[in-house]
Amino acid sequence: MTNTTSKAADNTQISYTVTFPEAQAHYADIELRISGLKQNILDLKMPVWTPGSYLVREFSKNVESFSAEANGKTLDVKKTRKNIWQISTANVSALKIRYRVYAFELSVRTSLIDVSHAFLSSTGVFIYPDGMLHHSSTIHIVPYKGWAKVSTSLDMVNGDPFTLYSPNYDILFDSPIEVGNQDVFGFEAAGVKYEVAMCGGGNYDKERLTKDMPKIIEEETAIYGENPNKRYVFIVHNTAKGGGGLEHLSSTVLGAARDNYASENGYRGFLSLVAHEHFHLWNVKRLRPIALGPFDYDNENYTTDLWIAEGFTAYYQDIIIRRTNLYPPDNYLGVLAADINYVVNQPGSKVQTLAEASYDAWIKYYRPNENSVNTNISYYNKGSIMALMLDLEIINDTHGKYSLDDVMKYMYNTYYKIQKRGYTDQEFKQGLEKFSGKSLDEFYKKYIYGLADIDYDKYLGYAGYHLTDELAGNNDPNLGIITTTNNGKIVVSNVIRGTAGWIDGINVNDELTAVDGNKDHFKWQKTRRSNYSIGIKRWLATNLTGYAT
Ligand SMILES: [Zn+2]
Repeated sequence: MTNTTSKAADNTQISYTVTFPEAQAHYADIELRISGLKQNILDLKMPVWTPGSYLVREFSKNVESFSAEANGKTLDVKKTRKNIWQISTANVSALKIRYRVYAFELSVRTSLIDVSHAFLSSTGVFIYPDGMLHHSSTIHIVPYKGWAKVSTSLDMVNGDPFTLYSPNYDILFDSPIEVGNQDVFGFEAAGVKYEVAMCGGGNYDKERLTKDMPKIIEEETAIYGENPNKRYVFIVHNTAKGGGGLEHLSSTVLGAARDNYASENGYRGFLSLVAHEHFHLWNVKRLRPIALGPFDYDNENYTTDLWIAEGFTAYYQDIIIRRTNLYPPDNYLGVLAADINYVVNQPGSKVQTLAEASYDAWIKYYRPNENSVNTNISYYNKGSIMALMLDLEIINDTHGKYSLDDVMKYMYNTYYKIQKRGYTDQEFKQGLEKFSGKSLDEFYKKYIYGLADIDYDKYLGYAGYHLTDELAGNNDPNLGIITTTNNGKIVVSNVIRGTAGWIDGINVNDELTAVDGNKDHFKWQKTRRSNYSIGIKRWLATNLTGYAT
């Protein structure tokens, strides 16, 4: 890690004041005051990425008008790296820094400011003094006219919602702040106070959410045996399309489609997102791969374990919904089939291992291109299938005495609570082996570090299920291309490895005018790649070892 703590900084006081004089142009103006300085040179830094989203996003690209002042004089500022501003602080004990941040990127991990609200994703807003990541700070928010509320997991100071306290920078960077007139409601679950901040409107039913969200929270808490927060905040950004989520220690940011709550599919999808991000408060935020904390905010943090951090969370997001009985078993089996279909149909699953997919998330998963379908496998979907297989294996091996839940709880207690550090690849494997009672060398070799075909029927068979390929024996021609419509033209967007389109040299961006002389669009659709559909059929209802029923 490049960041070190400094005892000399013990008398240091750090405070930020955030104002929005030009909210309409998407700017926040920040004044950072640091006092008690005792060093000759001070580097001020901005993180290049935000934990949980494995891409270097270069947040400093949005910073401008950086200036420093001490004793009434302007100080020289020198850029020494893309995200470092260096100031000579000899004979300077109190420093005032001003800068502006442009914030107009709508996502769960970037900031957005307009006249209706400000969403501050802290990694891209708060420049910090190097060597002082351990240090506390206070944050004063001066709201734009008419903004009345602040939603964040940071504590208020003296009951003032616009003055916040952060005990250290890991917490500040893990605490997004929403300011505006969001619709806030709350409930208690698992002994924790929950707050939901709905931004952007929508057809959500607060009463229904207040009934259903606690069920998810209680089910997840039961796995780990404790819910480590006192307070937890869901910040929900409702937009036309929605999508995505980002986990934090004591909060999460969810992207939802504002008109989708009223449809059963949309509502189920939202609950699944809630279950996913909330499950992360244990898996990855506290129980974590060793590379993911303390964070290096200057560089990529490489781990081969995102298939656990994300894939296991993706598995639990749906099995938790199943356990709450909010939806029937068939609904869950459909979700599983969709994951299996994705992996079976993705040519990249024969190219990239799960360990590689995790390690290269920074350059591959987060930077997809037209060929990614042929080169990448998602550690979410395949990782989720690994969790399913391991869960079934442990349940089967122990005749229902243990399950993957026991592994998660054991790992959380052992590494987060007792050892207070992340786990290594080997340690997670040992945790799984401890409960399955046998070596998983072969499993890891085949499925984590290798590209073996997954023996679905073996694992699903433990629970009395098997797979059916609904399209087995289907001989419809398949060109192996995916198309989009662009200004009325049919244009190739992907060519699937090993298919006729690949072999015969169809290119991405080619326009399709006819296939075998046929200009009928409908016929072209039939030539698109859709050859597999896999159904899960129950074949022995009496052999359900407590799973998925
Ligand atoms: Zn996740």
